[in-house]
Amino acid sequence: MDLQTKKDIFIKMNRAIVTCKKCRLCRGRINAVPGEGNINAKVVFIGEAPGFEEDKQGRPFVGRSGLLLGEMINKIGLKRTDVWIGNVIKCRPPENRNPLLDEIRACKPYLEKQMELIKPKIIVTLGRFALEFLVPKAKISEAHGKPIRIKSYIVFPIYHPAAALRNVAIKKIMIEDFMKIKNLINIDIKSITNEAEKKEDTAQLSLF
Ligand code: URA
Ligand code: SF4
Repeated sequence: MDLQTKKDIFIKMNRAIVTCKKCRLCRGRINAVPGEGNINAKVVFIGEAPGFEEDKQGRPFVGRSGLLLGEMINKIGLKRTDVWIGNVIKCRPPENRNPLLDEIRACKPYLEKQMELIKPKIIVTLGRFALEFLVPKAKISEAHGKPIRIKSYIVFPIYHPAAALRNVAIKKIMIEDFMKIKNLINIDIKSITNEAEKKEDTAQLSLF
């Protein structure tokens, strides 16, 4: 697919997202947050849902967590504009509560389509929520910092920057894990063992 066609599809989809009324979260939002960045990115970052600042600006990770995420992206030699940044849920849940199952179901096709179009090599999940969304039953405390091969993607779970900001021990782990992304960018995907295959529970592995 040529770049212009891809751009056009993204523009259309973003328009659909900002006017979307498929779940109740549309009622409390100021702005939906479709995601942003390089639509040909090798590395994408997936968070949970917009917070206060993101809802206000219509852009992902522009609050305190976003500042830390941006710093970390720079530390591995990339710019925010090199990668793509998005969320599982596109509209801010009231009081930043966890999204409900029906909201996740309603919003899911957008992220699915975004990943299908971008086809990144690495999907970095930020926090428990994005990880469990992509890899059901995975536990962040065990899964963080270890690449998981799913289909043609490397899913790389790390702690959420918001958790890192609340807890210095978590922050240290998060930074350590983050630095591993640098090597993953150049690695042959086949060299990554599919943990689930090893455990013979591929049925539990689903990217969407
Ligand atoms: N936290 C998230 O999970 N996503 C954002 O976009 C901002 C903060
Ligand atoms: Fe639509 Fe997703 Fe927003 Fe719900 S959260 S209104 S499904 S864009």
